[in-house]
Amino acid sequence: MTLLKRLILLTFILTIAFPYQAFAYKIVLDAGHGGSDPGASGVNGLKEKDVNLDITQKLRDELTKRGYEVVLTRTDDTYWSLAERVNFTDALKADLFVSVHANSHPNGTTRGSMVLYYDNDYPQEDYPASDKMKQLTPYSKDLAQHVLDSLVSAAGTKNLGLVPSAVYVARMGSIPSILVETAFLNQPDDAALLASDAARAKMAVGIANGIAGYAPPVFTDSLGHWARESILRMKNKGIIDGINNQYQPDRALKRAEFLTLMDRAFSFDKLATACTPSGTVTSAVYSCQTADQTYKDLPASYWASPVFAKAQQLNLLQGYADGTIRPEQPITRGEVAYLFERLTQLSTKSGGQSPTPKVTFDDVPADLWSAKAIYALKQKGIINGITDTSFKPEQTMTRAEIAALLDRYFAK
Ligand SMILES: [Zn+2]
Repeated sequence: MTLLKRLILLTFILTIAFPYQAFAYKIVLDAGHGGSDPGASGVNGLKEKDVNLDITQKLRDELTKRGYEVVLTRTDDTYWSLAERVNFTDALKADLFVSVHANSHPNGTTRGSMVLYYDNDYPQEDYPASDKMKQLTPYSKDLAQHVLDSLVSAAGTKNLGLVPSAVYVARMGSIPSILVETAFLNQPDDAALLASDAARAKMAVGIANGIAGYAPPVFTDSLGHWARESILRMKNKGIIDGINNQYQPDRALKRAEFLTLMDRAFSFDKLATACTPSGTVTSAVYSCQTADQTYKDLPASYWASPVFAKAQQLNLLQGYADGTIRPEQPITRGEVAYLFERLTQLSTKSGGQSPTPKVTFDDVPADLWSAKAIYALKQKGIINGITDTSFKPEQTMTRAEIAALLDRYFAK
């Protein structure tokens, strides 16, 4: 394969493997109540569970039409506990959660729409929120405001405002969450609205408009994470990306992922200009290789094959004795340090050995193969130990750690 073909393929593969998020978010819709739990009852005989399900299905159709990925909790008249709804949602790694309800008030005269969300400024001692939801208050509130405004404007209901609330589904999850009270079933005018197919459709459009106007936080799974700022900076720089708006910060970094990040950070093609097409140039910095070695676990169809070929040309990594290169294997902190230091040498064209390091990590003696790289990067302030005296070179590097490392590198 020519280099050009390889590059075209690489671009193609990266586009598929790392699609950038536009506005196609994954949304969980939850029709309140159901089955043995009818919810509120209407003055006109309507059951809340039926109204909720119909509006939720209309909302699903509206959002699907607009390109969102939508998942419903219950899709028929079955009973789901509140915990089941939240657990189901958590497992989906979605971007936001909207529970649809209709209201009831003892005085029988109150009418209008309101949106409930968990607000950490008004905690309720007996109903503590999940740690994640405490951090999500500004996002849930923002979502609630967008949805309320759009719902009221589309359906012509009275605006009863936002309600900080400790309802279970708004307080226990791990993504921005709201509970929409569309209108009051026990108030005759509102109940008539809720009985009308056209009015329900308007409500669905209104809620959809609110969702469309809301921008969920990037990488919901890294909110509150120690590396969040680094992760965002490296995303904005186009170095890292996630999968479906999740970064998976605490997952082990795979060798293929590491090389992909390094290619973006150091531009392997630029580094390889010192290598002739036949790959024979060697110098103090470079020892180029031909990139035609094949590995039995690296088929040409593998998404990161092109980046492995380029890494091979730069003589960055060698395969294992059994003929594998193990692209899916987690990379260790020692390996990352070694390769990162090698890449900084290539990019600055300043090769050679660093002076004998001052040993500060008990688990990184001077004669360890990765010691020079580890201490060189530490001296430059690019890499840190786990503690002052421990580096854990054999420990897997996480995706959060590589984001922090890259962030420190680019801050220099
Ligand atoms: Zn309800």
